[in-house]
Amino acid sequence: MKFLLICLIILSPLAQSQSCENKGPNVILFTWDGVRNQEFFKGTDDFHKDTTQASERGQIFTTFWAKYANEGMVFGEQNQYQIASSIGVSLPSYQALMVGHANECRNNQCGQIKEETFLEKIKKNLRLNIGDVAVFGSWEGMKNSVAQDSEQILEVIFPEIKNDKYLSPEILLLQNNAMLDLPTWKESRKDKYTFEMALQYLKNKCPRLLYISLVDSDENGHLNDYPGYIKTLRTYDQYLEQIIKTLKTMGQYGAETTLFVTTDHSRGEGEKWISHGTDDKDKNVFLFVRGRGVKPQGKINASATHAQIAPTIEFLMGLSPAAGILPGIR
Ligand SMILES: [Zn+2]
Repeated sequence: MKFLLICLIILSPLAQSQSCENKGPNVILFTWDGVRNQEFFKGTDDFHKDTTQASERGQIFTTFWAKYANEGMVFGEQNQYQIASSIGVSLPSYQALMVGHANECRNNQCGQIKEETFLEKIKKNLRLNIGDVAVFGSWEGMKNSVAQDSEQILEVIFPEIKNDKYLSPEILLLQNNAMLDLPTWKESRKDKYTFEMALQYLKNKCPRLLYISLVDSDENGHLNDYPGYIKTLRTYDQYLEQIIKTLKTMGQYGAETTLFVTTDHSRGEGEKWISHGTDDKDKNVFLFVRGRGVKPQGKINASATHAQIAPTIEFLMGLSPAAGILPGIR
């Protein structure tokens, strides 16, 4: 029995990697809505001392800073990394990120993106299948940013799923459970379902482009629930480790994958933390990149913006983008 157990432990990463055909480079984009640099880089805010238990104060992304930050590049600590949109609001920021430049979208009601996104462009150029390009999103509004033509990619965005033939029974069950367990805020499913669905898809389908978009952070912010916001961020720290650990068990697929982690906007300071979009400072965000093509160097002070994410991902996937890619990418 002991021998069998050892064999299983040794063979399981191998078995997983064998299930992924080696098709070339892959990219995962992971976004957490409305997370401030304060909490990402430093930890809990002095302003909230009275509403945060002593045991909850201090550094938040503890696993990330202890184990993974130096495996890649971290932009933004000196406020030299900005979103691509001219306004710190979700849909304008996501749309600008997806096409590599600001557009006319100024609020969350601006409707469907009117240009080809980098997901669509890469899918078309590499002749990928629909299931190769998957988006798992908690917030309904994401469907207005990820694709001009939603039929071209796999969108698993709240509330409905169109292309369920690409999804396992386990993922469909998670979707059902999510719809029976909606959060107190509107237009979203809880992140725990979105993340679990995406993680299963990553392990079983080895997508070439995977975008996981979470939102509990921003919603807790708007509710003025600082302990809830902190708890969400600590969960994101664990989710990030789960993705990195999963990639490390996926052999060649994991080694060929580049991971991007960022947010769509910051939030106000002091009592204004519950909102965002009115101050230019809300455009200062962080970016972590690790994996294939990334020189491990931890925090870097180079100036860059979200506008460089689309061309960088295109470059990593083998396309020849016209605009500038991020520094430190090879
Ligand atoms: Zn918001």
